[in-house]
Amino acid sequence: MSEALIQVKQLVKYFPVNNGLFGKASGQVQAVDSVDLTIRKGETFGLVGESGSGKSTIGRMLLRLGEKTGGEVRYNGIDLYALSREELRLLRPEIQMVFQDPYSSLNPRIRVGEAIGEALVEHGISNKKEVRERVLEVMNLCGLASHHIDRFPHEFSGGQRQRIGIARAIALNPSFIVADEPVSALDVSIQAQIINLLNDLQETRNLTYLFISHDLSVVEHLCSTIGVLYLGSLVEVSGRDDLFCNPLHPYTRALLSAVPIADPTVKREKIILKGDIPSPLNPPSGCKFHTRCPLAQEVCQVERPVLRDVGSGHLVACHLV
Ligand code: ADP
Ligand code: MG
Repeated sequence: MSEALIQVKQLVKYFPVNNGLFGKASGQVQAVDSVDLTIRKGETFGLVGESGSGKSTIGRMLLRLGEKTGGEVRYNGIDLYALSREELRLLRPEIQMVFQDPYSSLNPRIRVGEAIGEALVEHGISNKKEVRERVLEVMNLCGLASHHIDRFPHEFSGGQRQRIGIARAIALNPSFIVADEPVSALDVSIQAQIINLLNDLQETRNLTYLFISHDLSVVEHLCSTIGVLYLGSLVEVSGRDDLFCNPLHPYTRALLSAVPIADPTVKREKIILKGDIPSPLNPPSGCKFHTRCPLAQEVCQVERPVLRDVGSGHLVACHLV
């Protein structure tokens, strides 16, 4: 097993909620609640959970985009939140992000080549010819044609725009990329192309990914390790095959039961969870999942289960496993 690139310990993020009047804080959204995770060099860690479960907030904190409430994030052993502004600026090229909708992060009036080259210029590559060469090189790697360099974002399809977003992220030669729902806005046929591109880049450029998705079937083909998030806490973390063949947490089982299976002879009963996901403003006591869990017992209402190893690195937070 390769060594850890990202180590997260007891990560917490609360957002204050104002009641409007006088801007006084009236509560806290517990977006991320005591998350521990390790991402090893060269692997793709898939982070899965329903909308609002805290995926994007975790992704942003792994890149120190925004402050944390508590805990620790280490990149290559370096405590990210202990870095000065200047130290962080120097580290930035190594840690990059790919967004769900690159269109919203691309300035409509800036040509694609310039958008991709922006970061290079910011980080001190001033020679115009060199910038253009580097831009063409990453465009080519991302499956964009050289003549696209002088076009504007609106001239591209969704899939091509995501290629531009990825080209921008890899232009500075990063080691770690957070890809936040990078294919969720794309047609299924295009999703596969973008996932293949991310896969190829990982091999040729030695990349490590945090791949965020609300859809388990998307992470299945890309991720070596998968973490399942519920209301800001991880309920299960395991190697991909183990998770798909032997899901242990009732929430993971419910999510998996909704994933279509290619083999028609295999039958899987669909588990329908009762109710909606509770508000992170006021999460349930004990196990946060107990209000929707088909197996919940009394202990689940009072005691928060810890994420523990139940064998060969398969972690689960459940009283009943
Ligand atoms: P996901 O990416 O899984 O959909 P997010 O990380 O975006 O979830 O959000 C987790 C929770 O934190 C949600 O309840 C969301 O409303 C809340 N949240 C996210 N960003 C902010 C913010 N800037 N201010 C207040 N609440 C926020
Ligand atoms: Mg999100």
